[in-house]
Amino acid sequence: MDGKKRDNLAYIGIGSNLGDKVRNCREAIERIGAAEENKLVGRSSLYRTEPWGNEEQDWFVNAVIAIRTSFDPDGLLQHLKSVEEQLEKKKEERWGPRNIDLDILFFNDEILETPSLTVPHPFLHLRRFVLVPLQEICPDFIHPQLKLSVTELLERTNDEKKVTAL
Ligand code: AMP
Repeated sequence: MDGKKRDNLAYIGIGSNLGDKVRNCREAIERIGAAEENKLVGRSSLYRTEPWGNEEQDWFVNAVIAIRTSFDPDGLLQHLKSVEEQLEKKKEERWGPRNIDLDILFFNDEILETPSLTVPHPFLHLRRFVLVPLQEICPDFIHPQLKLSVTELLERTNDEKKVTAL
């Protein structure tokens, strides 16, 4: 123990569909876990997933991690942006190809709506590529706005995109 208080529990979505996707995801996870503010406490498998939104693009690799963190939500967002920059995020179009994309899915059971941050992530309940890895690590976590567990959200989603463990 290093005495640092990591009182917050956050779930982070990881995605890549450019370059060495598996390596990009692994490297992002490693960098997030290496920050002294964070402790990695859960990690899903990597999944190969069909693109959502803009369908004229390559398949993605996605995963979800759980961290205990001393960051507040804005601090965590800045940290994730710096990891994205380190991995040279290239983002030309909405839902288009990117080396790495990091999203805050849940931050404790907080509901946040600020110009820079919407938590829980507004699309998470619509996307199997988020719900399937989330279910692997936290099936009983309750979405604080929808008041349904991750398993219930997955049962109810209309998304039919393929999500396959690598
Ligand atoms: P994108 O690269 O399309 O994922 O968009 C990134 C931007 O979305 C960031 O600059 C954030 O300000 C904003 N954003 C809003 N809510 C979230 C969230 N829950 N997690 C990560 N980024 C978010």
